[in-house]
Amino acid sequence: MLKNRLDAFRNLDRSESEKDVPVSEELAELARIVRQRLEFLKRSGVDWLPKSDLVVQAIRRPPTVAHIAAPVPPPDEPAPRPAPRPIPAPVATAVQPPASLFAEPMLEGGPVPISERSAQLELLRAEVAACVRCPLLAETRTQTVFGEGNPAPRLMFIGEAPGADEDRTGRPFVGKAGQLLTDMITKGMGLAREDVYITNVLKSRPPENRDPEPEEIAHCLPFLERQLAIVRPEFICLLGRIAAQSLLDTSLPVGRLRGKWHRVRGIPALVTYHPSYLLRNPPAKKDAWNDLQILMKAMGISQPGRK
Ligand code: SF4
Repeated sequence: MLKNRLDAFRNLDRSESEKDVPVSEELAELARIVRQRLEFLKRSGVDWLPKSDLVVQAIRRPPTVAHIAAPVPPPDEPAPRPAPRPIPAPVATAVQPPASLFAEPMLEGGPVPISERSAQLELLRAEVAACVRCPLLAETRTQTVFGEGNPAPRLMFIGEAPGADEDRTGRPFVGKAGQLLTDMITKGMGLAREDVYITNVLKSRPPENRDPEPEEIAHCLPFLERQLAIVRPEFICLLGRIAAQSLLDTSLPVGRLRGKWHRVRGIPALVTYHPSYLLRNPPAKKDAWNDLQILMKAMGISQPGRK
């Protein structure tokens, strides 16, 4: 039964700590992902899985680099080599976990015809504008900030949540951080802001620009999922910790996630620093520029002014 599997993973965490066995960060992350996936299945009404000890065996054994750290290349790109990292000596032959448990769910359904995307986005925008799933945010916002840009973009930027300027204008990334993002797109990548699609995880401004609460993210993510399903970008750039952790279902910091490929619903996704962070920490702009160059290379975009 699914409940028993959940208990098994919870007990795994407890038994490891009680025995004072050091658990690698990767192993703990893997256990957390499995637990979340099983809880998701349970919430979805699945209360039975085929009897198999493969998953538990895989969790009890040290993770391989391929399980945890292998960057996911964009289509048609040779897989970059994972950086070597110390891995605990295996106690037994590592077993690949069943792919079905770990496979990233892909976007459902076929692509929306480009001619219908703007209309579908407007319908969704109206739905978001009326949303009161987060009572506090619905009460304190001036208006929702849905997102804007090309309805058939090659690239989609996803940030955290609207700030004061965005709440006032109803547009994403329009303050100082927005200007920096625009510069990254136009001066850095040689694209027009209108070429890409820009949105946030949260569509309503959290008071005093505090971090979104996990419950608020859970409430709002379905809107972003539907935006993604309509817009279907070729590439995604996740801006900052909240966007990266929410979309990649991880607690790793941006410093550990940036500079390599991930996937969001099957779409190649790169993580970089949020423009607000770059304004507070200008030295990090160099890292962000390196990230953009990875993105540009995958997209076949050459640096402005260079052939
Ligand atoms: S943040 Fe999202 S889910 Fe929450 S009230 Fe605003 S639109 Fe609705």
